[in-house]
Amino acid sequence: MEKIEMLYEGKAKKIYSTEDTDKVIVEYKDDATAFNGEKKGQISEKGKLNAKISTIFFELLEQKGIPTHLVEQLNETDVLTKKLDIILVEVVMRNIAAGSIAKRLGLEEGTELKKPVLEFYYKSDELGDPMINEYHIYAEELASKAELDTIKDLAFKINEILVEFLADKGIDLVDFKLEFGKGTDGKVYLGDEISPDTCRFWDSKTKKKLDKDRFRRDLGEVEGAYQEILKRLEGSNS
Ligand code: 5GP
Repeated sequence: MEKIEMLYEGKAKKIYSTEDTDKVIVEYKDDATAFNGEKKGQISEKGKLNAKISTIFFELLEQKGIPTHLVEQLNETDVLTKKLDIILVEVVMRNIAAGSIAKRLGLEEGTELKKPVLEFYYKSDELGDPMINEYHIYAEELASKAELDTIKDLAFKINEILVEFLADKGIDLVDFKLEFGKGTDGKVYLGDEISPDTCRFWDSKTKKKLDKDRFRRDLGEVEGAYQEILKRLEGSNS
């Protein structure tokens, strides 16, 4: 499958049309941004690493019965996916307090949450992705009740699958962001990516950060952290 025309360029990916109107090619870039685009940089090899890492997660989720946009990885940076009409609601799942929840609730980073927490954010660069609740979603008709019920159910299932898979690799899944969209068949699919750009991964023993927080917080060894995640995912164990 060949790229025909660039449909969209995001912060970390480019999307191309293909000869199949139901499918697009996602090209992962090395560009990195944080704080709603205020901090910009490049992470060497990130495109290749995230394309591979995300494909591994999406294959796992497909095997476990989660409907995703993945068709196949085409080459080091390019992945063929179903074309989705992205629902403008970002879903964040949290298992351990870090980032914005630690700040909002005054929790020490690393505090285990007694139950997984699901949060919604309005996907809007202009507004800086504000947190919203279900009533905002219905008022703005961002998704229907049936779609949102499906999204919530999938998000908790995905969390369970990933927590278990990663625990076996010596990685704590602190939190992560998901995006969903509607396929040309009208069904809800998991879209976007699952990678160190969109998740917080901590080494289970040392609690070392193995994700984009190394870039956000200038902690160094950014590429090494992404490589470490891929190595552990590809290995049989940690
Ligand atoms: P927080 O709300 O603590 O900043 O982020 C929670 C989790 O969601 C983190 O794993 C973070 O990487 C992810 N996340 C939330 N919003 C975004 C976003 O707009 N882009 C990316 N790449 N990740 C996000």
